[in-house]
Amino acid sequence: MHAEIIAIGTELTTGAKLDTNSQWLSLELAEVGIPVLFHSTVADGHDNMLSVFRIASRRADLVLITGGLGPTLDDLTRAVMADLAGVDLVLDEPSLDIIKSMFARRGREMPERNVIQAQFPRGSEVIANPRGTAPGIWMELTRDDGRVCRMAAMPGVPSEMRHMFFESVRPRLPGGRNVIQRARVNCFGIGESNAEEMLGDLTARDRDPEVGITAHEATITLRITAHGASADECQTKIAATKSDIIQKLGHYVFGEEDERLEDVVMQALADRGETVSVAESATAGLLALRLMQAGGAGSSFVGGVVSPTPQSKSTLLGIDESESSHGDPSGEIAKRMAEACRERFRTDYALAISDHPHDGEQQPDEVRATYIALATRSQTLVQGIVPVGDPAIQKSRLAKSLTNMLRLELRNHSESQPS
Ligand code: AMP
Ligand code: MG
Repeated sequence: MHAEIIAIGTELTTGAKLDTNSQWLSLELAEVGIPVLFHSTVADGHDNMLSVFRIASRRADLVLITGGLGPTLDDLTRAVMADLAGVDLVLDEPSLDIIKSMFARRGREMPERNVIQAQFPRGSEVIANPRGTAPGIWMELTRDDGRVCRMAAMPGVPSEMRHMFFESVRPRLPGGRNVIQRARVNCFGIGESNAEEMLGDLTARDRDPEVGITAHEATITLRITAHGASADECQTKIAATKSDIIQKLGHYVFGEEDERLEDVVMQALADRGETVSVAESATAGLLALRLMQAGGAGSSFVGGVVSPTPQSKSTLLGIDESESSHGDPSGEIAKRMAEACRERFRTDYALAISDHPHDGEQQPDEVRATYIALATRSQTLVQGIVPVGDPAIQKSRLAKSLTNMLRLELRNHSESQPS
């Protein structure tokens, strides 16, 4: 079975409006396993529309039409469908009553023109439209070759079209009663290709549930799509796939759905009644902003400083930078920033990001790195982050790397404690 989608409207063919319905419908049909072979866009007009409908009904098993169901003279979809089938339009009294009552609820009388919206090609079915006045049309045509072409005409207004598709068109499609559910698992600290390698055949194309990988600013998201006869069946499959992912990726997995690193870390601190402070140079306050805006931030975020100059490092943190005037080539400054910050704010943890290294040509990795540090009650961890990829996301990546460092520290610590 394959489909064709027809978008109707002169506003589309003139370029005044973009046809978004066809794209949306194609994605939805892909979900139920029906490939779309043609998109056609047609101006309002009886003859053009009839020729496109005719071609589509001969070459596709399913034709989805949007637009042209309104009450005005240029809305011709219903008339053209009747001509295609060689039948007349007949009034459907229940539809007329619904349209009349919709106007009545708005305190208006139904204009005579709207009667047309209650007319349907003889032999077709009415598709209810709870969101607007124009009902849709379901029509089945038996072709010369004996095969049936199913046609559904839906309103052009995207929100009405989507609702009608979900409620009344999709359930009529083969496989359309299947339920689809999705879930996301978020990871940090590995690249996309590494993740794919570690996941093995979990990411195979024909697997159910399917697992896809996307990356955004160094966060890797695994998107699980499960198909099943019921929501419960989908959820069972999703749960099994999630635990496979966690088993394969271990501590790289930090959260689900919309959870960000900072949400998970601030929640963990709040749960433990612990506090954090930050000192930043290269990230210009981004880390403080993220931690303060995190879900569950509560009172765990105590404060932070932005100290991009030797003066501010000296005044705000008591660090004398003079002996190393070329950024922070060894991570020593990041370490001192974190320790000074923890002391000044009297927090359980302090996070620090020192300066970007000065631009050099071919430099060894440790010189090109920007350093991040985490001070805890017992030690200070330091890590160099070498810039890779888009320079525009380096600040975000640094802030995330450091948030992740604290996440791993909290995780190790909670695992070593008896629960
Ligand atoms: P119609 O059903 O043709 O009266 O269209 C009603 C409204 O939906 C108009 O504002 C159209 O511009 C909009 N519309 C119609 N078809 C599409 C489409 N394919 N994509 C996006 N908007 C559309
Ligand atoms: Mg129109």
